[in-house]
Amino acid sequence: MRDVIVIGAGGGGPTTAKELAAQGLDVMLLEGGPRNAHPRSRWSTFENDSSNPLIGYLRFGPSDRSQPAWFREHAQNSFVWQLSGVGGSTQIYVGNSPRAYPGVFADYDGPDRNKYDVAHRFPFGYSEMVPYYEWVEATLPVQTAAMGTKEEVWFNGCAAAGLPLQTTKTTKEESYRPQENAILQPGGNAGRTSDPNLLAHPLATGCTFCGHCPHGCIRPIDAPRNLIAKRSTDNSYVPMAITAEAWARGGRPATLIADAFVTKIHTESVHGRTTATGVTWRDNRTGEHHREDAKVVVMAGGCIENPRLWFNSGLPNPNDWVGRGLTDHFLDAVTGVFPHSIKSTQGAGSAARADFPGRGAHLSVQSAPSLQAFLFNASDSGIRGHYTNGRGIPGQWDGLTGRTVGPDLKDLMMSGIDHFMWVAVLTDDDVEAQNRVVLSGLPGDAHGPVPKVIVQSRKRSARTVANRDYVSGWAAKILRAAGAHTVIRQDAMSIPLHVQSSMRMGHSAEDSVLDADGQARWVDRLFITDNSALPNALGGPNPTLSTQALATRTAERIFQLYFGGDPWVRTEVPVVSTDPRISARLAQLGL
Ligand SMILES: Cc1cc2nc3c(=O)[nH]c(=O)nc-3n(C[C@H](O)[C@H](O)[C@H](O)COP(=O)(O)OP(=O)(O)OC[C@H]3O[C@@H](n4cnc5c(N)ncnc54)[C@H](O)[C@@H]3O)c2cc1C
Repeated sequence: MRDVIVIGAGGGGPTTAKELAAQGLDVMLLEGGPRNAHPRSRWSTFENDSSNPLIGYLRFGPSDRSQPAWFREHAQNSFVWQLSGVGGSTQIYVGNSPRAYPGVFADYDGPDRNKYDVAHRFPFGYSEMVPYYEWVEATLPVQTAAMGTKEEVWFNGCAAAGLPLQTTKTTKEESYRPQENAILQPGGNAGRTSDPNLLAHPLATGCTFCGHCPHGCIRPIDAPRNLIAKRSTDNSYVPMAITAEAWARGGRPATLIADAFVTKIHTESVHGRTTATGVTWRDNRTGEHHREDAKVVVMAGGCIENPRLWFNSGLPNPNDWVGRGLTDHFLDAVTGVFPHSIKSTQGAGSAARADFPGRGAHLSVQSAPSLQAFLFNASDSGIRGHYTNGRGIPGQWDGLTGRTVGPDLKDLMMSGIDHFMWVAVLTDDDVEAQNRVVLSGLPGDAHGPVPKVIVQSRKRSARTVANRDYVSGWAAKILRAAGAHTVIRQDAMSIPLHVQSSMRMGHSAEDSVLDADGQARWVDRLFITDNSALPNALGGPNPTLSTQALATRTAERIFQLYFGGDPWVRTEVPVVSTDPRISARLAQLGL
């Protein structure tokens, strides 16, 4: 019997696995998707090869790319942007690692306290979360982004539009700032040349400004896996978990199995309580099923698969909140077209931002040709110049909302990709019971009935809609102040790429699945440590750092509650994931 089984090796699961392996527990990490142990031989950086959702190497599907991607039913025009594989969706993420705004925590008493989703706060205070943020920030590590021309343009626009600069990690006021990114700072030749011969490790270290964050980071060439620039969990927490004996006193390496899709969580009645006892997983390559028992089971399969697995396992759902309350930052996209190059294809995917606590946030994002063309099309406001779906947004947008197609799209794209700046508009959206994951009535796949994702794009709460309009309006103001001659708002169709809170932790047993320890309210020894555990949309900022901080806190709780251990975050100094002992052990393992 294992001590702990963790289901899913994305943003959250490896964090829990690493922390518990470092304490000497016998941890098994099961990942349904592929393990790209040597990505440099398989990854190309071509957009279609990497990100085509059906056949790309960064998709939600099995490792065999001739097999279909795993299907989800959508109740609306939408694309849930998640990946399978070791690293999960962090393989594509751009590493932005802001903290949640303090206003979403239980103890917040600032003058703007009613601006937030007040009914769904964290069940504990911001001050309790800070040591876990600091621990993760030191481990990954999180550092102020390296910047270039596109960031200079953004900062000038923000200042000209009247926003103040923010420089501390805790953001309480509307402001702009460099990103705090989970990307190693450039060193040596990095950022100083584009000559590939001069950009191999150790001549170059950290971010080489290659501009390929979303295609999976593989640089600097020849760097050990734990020194690759972007700190997706396949480069940070997973290497730590599987080498724990090499760097943690008393640590024990976690067992990682990829292509291992968990299809059932087993329970027994212990002292009259439903209690998790293990899992069944299916080997995607052979089709064989395996049973494994554990003292504790941790779900980290992401916001869509966790409810699916819960339902397929027949686990209890007495308050009907399993799968409900899904938040997605109700993403919108506002693009500025500049009369000159702003070098938008160079550098980290997003190295600058603006924050609007309780309203949302902006990411000033790098462009790429097919992503930009996709964004110009991904609208819920009909086709620009032809019809509006009854939604065309009046006022400041001068009719420049909606899908851009045909000659209009061609003309726009001919502006040149380095002339675009697109702003990802993250909305602080409300937890709403109607936005949820259920089981689809369509035929299932090899892992059982498939999930159906319901996000009511056109029926969001008044606060959510007002927040999205407000933050989009600011994006236009900043882009114009920065010198864009054309500004287009997509009124984007549903593109959940920050999916949160479908198995939420909460104060109230009426509308939450997890208690304040991260344990399932109705199943003992079952915990959740990914985005689905987040109580709310965090006030707007990107979620992964908060998920990893919460996963660290939950790992401590597991250690205390079921293994008689002492907490460590307030007493120890974290080991950084770039530690040479990890590189040395990976080399011994041929990784
Ligand atoms: C384009 C893009 C850019 C992004 N940029 C940022 C950013 O800059 N900053 C930020 O904070 N966030 C960003 N995100 C979001 C970020 O990727 C997620 O917040 C994070 O990955 C969520 O972690 P997770 O563990 O909840 O889920 P995931 O990372 O999706 O991981 C879940 C894992 O579980 C596996 N799994 C699912 N079901 C099972 C099962 N039954 N058995 C075994 N394995 C299973 C999946 O295959 C997957 O690997 C971005 C997302 C996208 C798409």
